Amino acid sequence: MNYTEIMVRYGELSTKGKNRFTFIQRLAQNVRQALVAYPEVKIYGKKDRMHLVLNGADPTGVCQGLTKIFGIQNFSPMIKVPKDLEIIKATALELMKEAYEPGLTFKVNTKRADHNFELDTNALNLFLGNAVFDVYPEIQAQMRKPDITLRVEIRKEGAYLSYLTVKGAGGLPVGTSGRGMLMLSGGIDSPVAGFLAMKRGVEIEAVHFASPPYTSVQALKKAQDLTAKLAPYVGTIQFIEVPFTEIQEEIKNKVPQGYLMTITRRFMMRITDEIKNLRHGLVIINGESLGQVASQTLPSMVAINEVTNTPIIRPVVTMDKIEIIDLAEKIDTFQLSIQPFEDCCTIFAPPQPKTKPQVEKVQFYESRLDVEGLVLRAVEKIIVSQINVNGLVNTPENASAEKDLFDDLL
Ligand code: ATP
Ligand code: MG
Repeated sequence: MNYTEIMVRYGELSTKGKNRFTFIQRLAQNVRQALVAYPEVKIYGKKDRMHLVLNGADPTGVCQGLTKIFGIQNFSPMIKVPKDLEIIKATALELMKEAYEPGLTFKVNTKRADHNFELDTNALNLFLGNAVFDVYPEIQAQMRKPDITLRVEIRKEGAYLSYLTVKGAGGLPVGTSGRGMLMLSGGIDSPVAGFLAMKRGVEIEAVHFASPPYTSVQALKKAQDLTAKLAPYVGTIQFIEVPFTEIQEEIKNKVPQGYLMTITRRFMMRITDEIKNLRHGLVIINGESLGQVASQTLPSMVAINEVTNTPIIRPVVTMDKIEIIDLAEKIDTFQLSIQPFEDCCTIFAPPQPKTKPQVEKVQFYESRLDVEGLVLRAVEKIIVSQINVNGLVNTPENASAEKDLFDDLL
């Protein structure tokens, strides 16, 4: 079908009053980023909906991109034609040809913003309804809950026809809730946690701890590939690699086995917190799920959390593994996550970590370490890169991305 534009309906953001402008602006920016492959698409953000004028771009590809953008309730590909009754009729029949299957019911739903148009809404409904009956004599019209709703809008600049309404991703536009640091391992849970945080509008930056040579290049690549899987929801994600080898060796040498894991996690938390401060984040997000492993019992969470007051968002904390896997499959991270490249935690993991670590003991063992110095050195040596759907992007941080993002607003 020769769709010429797509009408996007907002989700919750229409209820956000004053902030609406920011929401729409951010949504436009996210749409622009997700559609980088289609620079010809023009974006017009209006108060209650957004119009994407395709200018020849492939509608299927654009629609696929849109299904991943949070803040969109649903969208409809439309055809704009001149306000000529014969042309409108022919286009309506073309759409019916695509939509109709034997047994389906239909109705025509007309809106008329241009009151000078020769037919009023009732007359146009009737005119197009009859045209459909002529071609499909057996079809049933159904006013309440028809299978096919043929929508026609007569506006000043043309007539717009559509029948499809595609469900959007829901949620809030990524970035409208502020920024958070996602602790991203190579596992199943943290990418899902990142996805869920983005769904509620959090712009995530991925923080990954690597301990070469104990951890392999493939383990790092796996974390980057997982980040690339999260990128379509927003465009580009900052990937922050933290060198963790010195800290892990130091902990291994000076801390008894049972407390290795707790203290390692506390270091990860402290470092992520520092990075969050440096990069103007508000929260930390991780993939902890209650009771899943020793580090995720409530006493463990208490001991690990003790190093910071920063809110820790744990989107999968109450989910069963099976539920997390379901989501991981939906967002296509599962197959990557189960690749067998060990990350830093697995390699240094003691056979029997404490499930009820005591904070006083943790503090006592940590007093053997130069906590501040270790954290500082790790933070100084972080490597920041940008990852989009295709993987690593070798450009410096793109501050100019704010301009030219949408073509017109309100
Ligand atoms: P995941 O599947 O996300 O790895 P997990 O069930 O394996 O989770 P843990 O290994 O105990 O759980 O890790 C708990 C959380 O700690 C992870 O979800 C992640 O947020 C964070 N984390 C663990 N290892 C790393 C790492 N190497 N880099 C960054 N964050 C990490
Ligand atoms: Mg893990």
